Amino acid sequence: MSDILASVLTPPVLVILVLTAIILVGLWIVSVIWVNRDAKTREAPAMMWTLVAIVPVAGLVAYCLMRPPLNAADSTEQVMNLELMGRQLADYGNCPRCGEPVKSDFVACPNCRAQLRNVCGGCGRPLEPSWQICPYCGRPFTRQARQRSA
Ligand SMILES: [Zn+2]
Ligand SMILES: [Zn+2]
Repeated sequence: MSDILASVLTPPVLVILVLTAIILVGLWIVSVIWVNRDAKTREAPAMMWTLVAIVPVAGLVAYCLMRPPLNAADSTEQVMNLELMGRQLADYGNCPRCGEPVKSDFVACPNCRAQLRNVCGGCGRPLEPSWQICPYCGRPFTRQARQRSA
């Protein structure tokens, strides 16, 4: 029996076995640390899950199956991204003449050259058609001035 073992466990085989064992133990330690950190960010009981993860393979699989779906930071980030996307969409409108998407502060449509907005004669900023006065520099914006700029 020991002869068979000795013939199988040659030095190169032993080295490979030891290296494999070191790698597996390393992966196991990393998985336990990962579960501990991940559980904390998900506001799950980190100590409990760390103990579960100490069970090799099965503990990690159990955590991956049962951990909370999203951590708190992720969900607030998602809400912020949605808000940002909404704001970016609100920044854009469509050209009334050709339907091309135009930014809300565009003065003219880059596609069909339609004038979308008046420009303040004082500071050159785009103005809403309903405005009576430039909110940026305070220059009054009369009907004649509008026609002149149009
Ligand atoms: Zn257009
Ligand atoms: Zn102005």
